[in-house]
Amino acid sequence: MHALFEERRYLIPFRASLLPQIFCDTLIVGSGVAGLRAAIAASAHGEVIVLAKADIKRSSTAWAQGGIAAVLGTSEAAVRMHVEDTIETGCGLCDAGVVQSTVAGARPRIEELRNWGMRFDVNEEGEISLGREGGHRESRILHSDGDATGRELVRCLGQHVQKNSAIRVFENCFALDLLTVSDGDNSPVVGAITHHPKYGLQMIWAWSTIIATGGVGGVYRETTNPAGTTGDGIAMAYRAGAAVADMAFMQFHPTTLYIAGAERSLITEAVRGEGAHLVDRRGERFMVGAHPMAELAPRDIVSRAIIEHVAETGDSHVFLDARHFNPGFFAQRFPGIAAQLARFDIDPEHDLIPVQPSAHYTIGGINVDEFGRTNRPGLYACGEAACSRLHGANRLASNSLLEGLVRGEITGRICEEQHEAVNGGRPPKRIISNIPVSEHGGLDLTDVRSSLRSVMWRHLGIIRNGQTMADVREMIDFWGRYTLDKIFDEPMGWETQNMLLVASLVCNSALWREESRGVHSRRDFPEPREAFRAHDVWRKGQAEPTRTVAASDPTGVPV
Ligand SMILES: Cc1cc2nc3c(=O)[nH]c(=O)nc-3n(C[C@H](O)[C@H](O)[C@H](O)COP(=O)(O)OP(=O)(O)OC[C@H]3O[C@@H](n4cnc5c(N)ncnc54)[C@H](O)[C@@H]3O)c2cc1C
Repeated sequence: MHALFEERRYLIPFRASLLPQIFCDTLIVGSGVAGLRAAIAASAHGEVIVLAKADIKRSSTAWAQGGIAAVLGTSEAAVRMHVEDTIETGCGLCDAGVVQSTVAGARPRIEELRNWGMRFDVNEEGEISLGREGGHRESRILHSDGDATGRELVRCLGQHVQKNSAIRVFENCFALDLLTVSDGDNSPVVGAITHHPKYGLQMIWAWSTIIATGGVGGVYRETTNPAGTTGDGIAMAYRAGAAVADMAFMQFHPTTLYIAGAERSLITEAVRGEGAHLVDRRGERFMVGAHPMAELAPRDIVSRAIIEHVAETGDSHVFLDARHFNPGFFAQRFPGIAAQLARFDIDPEHDLIPVQPSAHYTIGGINVDEFGRTNRPGLYACGEAACSRLHGANRLASNSLLEGLVRGEITGRICEEQHEAVNGGRPPKRIISNIPVSEHGGLDLTDVRSSLRSVMWRHLGIIRNGQTMADVREMIDFWGRYTLDKIFDEPMGWETQNMLLVASLVCNSALWREESRGVHSRRDFPEPREAFRAHDVWRKGQAEPTRTVAASDPTGVPV
């Protein structure tokens, strides 16, 4: 990793005492499911500020289609089966205690959502209708408006937050960096420096700060994630000394609409859950025989099968075939996707739907314990930005909205401990960031971003290889050398610097992990290896990760 990645503490130069100051008890960076749910919990013990770098409706959460995996009844067997499915998919790296508490925590979170007015789809008897997705042995996916679960979830949580006078949401407010009293390991995080197009730079001071900024899908050319998913929270936490774990594990979604020149958009797994087939140009169902669950095999298996099949056949993509659905069913069950397809003149009752895999979900992230604590006092993380070890080496479909709800609530609740620790007595500090002016020439940020996203897709995508990943690391170092030494004054520059840092963390982790496990698949090490049944935890200034062994399972489920 180039020295600049390690040296840069703040992205911009500033003097805290000269900037406008805002005070709150808890600062939450991110307004997706994890940030909003954490905010509601944290509002019980003080003033909360939630930041969104765009508007609140633009997040992966708002785009979620398939639904929320949750066991609604009180059956212990049903909870256990959800735990087992999650652990089975996680390929030996789930923390069974975290899985158990997340799965068991679903029911109260769903009940409260219903009390807050969330409209889940119901069947003819008026009961919540449950869908099924890959890797789930039971139908346990709650959904809204067919395929618009995320939109409804954000509406419901957003309205609840709006009614809460202890929470203020700052939209279009970009967090650049976390503030620490000093650079020492035990120096607490005390808020963030932010930029708003109207109000400029501001210091927001808080007793506890929660990162809920989502993943890093935007560093890949092909991604289902919204454009701003550039890993800002993970990058700023790393710069502030927080440990980052398991970054090699990027989950690829097998079915993204593939139309040349058009933005990629997800075709939810629930379409396969309802019985759609994956076929090639000749109509062959290539998943049958590739896995006992055929099209409903876990995502990594389906994604790899697609990549291998197109490599064999020379085709550019494959197709979803839903032509055998009952007339009218597709449009009624998946209205959003049907509308999206109609924009390209595709009628799923008569036409095949062209698809290919894309980067979808960041399994690794800021290393947290079961309460969302990081190694830095005052800093917490939840949702996709965190590595909670719920997903292990592969994520079970629809478990991430669940993670945001359950672990967001826990993190928002627990961070009160920090307020007690400082006992309200810490004044803002005279933080000064000095950065020398760059001696290198100017650069075209769009070019750096698109080159980075292309190489990440080609060489850190679904199937990886040591030599080419080492080449990518050199390229990232080279781009880093003349991008990281610059001082930018708008989000595009800051995001690009963050993208280079998180791409480099993905690359280091993927090179270190000399095995194939879950979503991480290497041609040069095609099998899982016992020596790597461990988490890799990286910290600034350390050339090698700390290895932590996967937690054993208290419930007796084999991990
Ligand atoms: C198309 C799509 C479909 C999906 N479908 C499902 C599904 O059906 N079920 C499921 O369980 N999961 C699904 N997922 C995954 C799931 O939606 C995400 O993992 C989850 O919503 C992440 O929530 P989050 O709160 O952690 O982050 P996000 O929802 O990504 O929110 C991140 C927030 O952080 C803010 N932010 C980021 N950087 C900054 C910054 N520098 N300053 C200020 N704010 C910042 C953003 O503005 C945003 O508000 C889907 C994902 C996608 C992309």
